[in-house]
Amino acid sequence: SHEQGPEGPETPIQVVLRVRPMSAAELRRGEQSALHCSGTRTLQVSPPGGGPDVAFRFGAVLDGARTQEDVFRACGVRRLGELALRGFSCTIFTFGQTGSGKTYTLTGPPPQEEGVPVPPGLAGIMQRTFAWLLDRVQHLGTPVSLRASYLEIYNEQVQDLLSLGSPRPLPVRWNKTRGFYVEQLRVVEFGSLEALMELLQMGLSRRRSSAHTLNQASSRSHALLTLYISRQTQMPPVDPREPPSGGKLCFVDLAGSEKVAATGSRGELMLEANSINRSLLALGHCISLLLDPQRKQSHIPFRDSKLTKLLADSLGGRGVTLMVACVSPSAQCLPETLNTLRYASRAQ
Ligand code: ADP
Ligand code: MG
Repeated sequence: SHEQGPEGPETPIQVVLRVRPMSAAELRRGEQSALHCSGTRTLQVSPPGGGPDVAFRFGAVLDGARTQEDVFRACGVRRLGELALRGFSCTIFTFGQTGSGKTYTLTGPPPQEEGVPVPPGLAGIMQRTFAWLLDRVQHLGTPVSLRASYLEIYNEQVQDLLSLGSPRPLPVRWNKTRGFYVEQLRVVEFGSLEALMELLQMGLSRRRSSAHTLNQASSRSHALLTLYISRQTQMPPVDPREPPSGGKLCFVDLAGSEKVAATGSRGELMLEANSINRSLLALGHCISLLLDPQRKQSHIPFRDSKLTKLLADSLGGRGVTLMVACVSPSAQCLPETLNTLRYASRAQ
């Protein structure tokens, strides 16, 4: 099938919707599906009590029968990779309630055993992009410097998932040349797919074994893996102490969106909640301001959270952002699903 997806940096946010299959538990409980895909871009929602269907349109809609490879293609990730090779900052993030398939979409199912890699057929967007990128770079003919960092934001604290020492919160700073950056974040140079996969595994297993995961609060953390891509033609050698310049490809597994409700009229994205994840709230706020044509020149409050600071160049500058909104098909999840659908449809 042909590749859909971003047309270029002129269209800042692309939204793809993925409906995961019914889980074994949902089927066991006899839950019904409330969602039906019609065509490749429209989702029909049937309210359980009857009443008219509600339709939502996205760049692409993928139902539970679609494979990981289908999702990778429909998201047009190669296009984002090409833009990153040309110096743009591109971000792919997954959004949705806990259990909706965000982590599965980015990195596949959890391993049967720690250290065992995901079977290739179940690999997520990240592993597929890594394989594509390393292959692409090998055939470019010009040297490319590749580096990666991997961090987690939990309770507005940044933790390095690749740190060699014992993890401690790292400050986010700003300066003119670098923009926002995490001080003392480990940024690792890699030259092969295997080396990059090892960095991914290291971060994933740290995420799974970290204290807040064991406290059942892992759904409240964001994980950001960033690839720094710079082509070395006509450029001075990179000083290892300097931050990488050039393009970026950032993969963000967002915290669960439950308790984040999208309301408001006039196409405006407003969020309300009692107990809210500050970064998720700030992200929604920045996106709504970026999309409002009347406010295009005005100030975007990237400084309101760690997440929006770190995504500022992708959201507001030379970048393209892809949101993969993830939902469960079950009628039981419909209130949260509707929140996700509204948030996602207002972001495009
Ligand atoms: P989230 O990260 O949004 O909390 P997960 O990615 O952990 O959700 O998915 C919840 C469960 O559903 C996991 O066991 C995951 O393996 C499974 N799952 C999610 N999406 C799919 C899918 N498309 N196909 C099969 N299983 C899936
Ligand atoms: Mg997850």
